[in-house]
Amino acid sequence: MDNDTIRSLARMDSGGAPVVSLYLDVDGSRRVRPGDYQRQFEKLVSHAKAAAAGAAGAAEDLERIQAYVKGGLDRSGIRGLAIFSCSEAGLWEVINLPVPVRDQLVINQSPQLAQLELLAEQHARFAVLLADRQRARVLVVQMGEIVRSEERFDALPRHEDDGGDWDRDHVHHHQAAAAQRHLRRAATLAFSVFQDDGFDHLILGTPEEMVSELRHELHAYLRDRVATARPIPLAARDDEVRQVVQEVEEELRRSRETAVVGELREGLATGKAVAGLAPVLASLVERRVATLVVSTGFAAAGWRCPACDHLAGVGRRCPVCPADMDQVDDVVEEALGLTLSHGGRVVSCRDNADLDVLGRIGALLRY
Ligand SMILES: [Zn+2]
Repeated sequence: MDNDTIRSLARMDSGGAPVVSLYLDVDGSRRVRPGDYQRQFEKLVSHAKAAAAGAAGAAEDLERIQAYVKGGLDRSGIRGLAIFSCSEAGLWEVINLPVPVRDQLVINQSPQLAQLELLAEQHARFAVLLADRQRARVLVVQMGEIVRSEERFDALPRHEDDGGDWDRDHVHHHQAAAAQRHLRRAATLAFSVFQDDGFDHLILGTPEEMVSELRHELHAYLRDRVATARPIPLAARDDEVRQVVQEVEEELRRSRETAVVGELREGLATGKAVAGLAPVLASLVERRVATLVVSTGFAAAGWRCPACDHLAGVGRRCPVCPADMDQVDDVVEEALGLTLSHGGRVVSCRDNADLDVLGRIGALLRY
């Protein structure tokens, strides 16, 4: 999964034909046998057939997805599955995810991307630049997987190669200049990986005494992305590199959560934020939500208007238009989707006591 895939799905035009979006938790630790997730899938299908207006037109897509899910998945390294299908528009996209997803089957006129966007937001792309005086490695890691790996080697000149004509100082000077050229090439290698693959954060894995020199050689774009520096040995195994990335990701997540909840509390004092489900839904309907902040796992039953997308905690009459609203299992999930479709941002917080006290959900407002 990458941002290009999400963007091209978001741009996809079905010409009014129904698009089926499926998210299925296929995590082998929770759903041990294939029958476990297949049964869950059947439940989602019968639920969707009963609820969704476009279900009849999507029969072919549902069959195709069913054949895929029942066809024996290779689940190695895969904990979540996302499938988007619209046979009329020639869309068939299967995305295997190394992280679990929330079961969801939606039949709509466009792909339901809220979960994917949230995953992309939570699992930024990291690059790790390992460098010593003559070797360099660049690894790109996303969702705990190494998605790219590059190396370079610039041998330091050795004394024997000079035929012994040079004195010791000259050799040292020569070696230092070569080491610096190597760091420049290492920085260039990192930049070319950035241009090809893109990444959000860069971790410098060099001995401490080389950090500032390496930072100096980096392109300005990359200098802005340096998250931290850690002394990681060049010969580190892939799982050691992944472990460092996981730790840094966790630190960044915690500080992001603390910052956004702090902003929320300040906003509440100045009227630029709301907290609690009912005020958040009301602001969302007014399209005022810039950032939705929600406790991971928070869910609540509610209502959604099929005509105007109004979301509410109580139904059934839509307060905005003459239609009757539909009951939804989880109005929080709907709120996430609506925020993203309005161009807003979603921050999901794990175990943030300050947010829990505020009702587990809040929103920073545009105005
Ligand atoms: Zn309505």
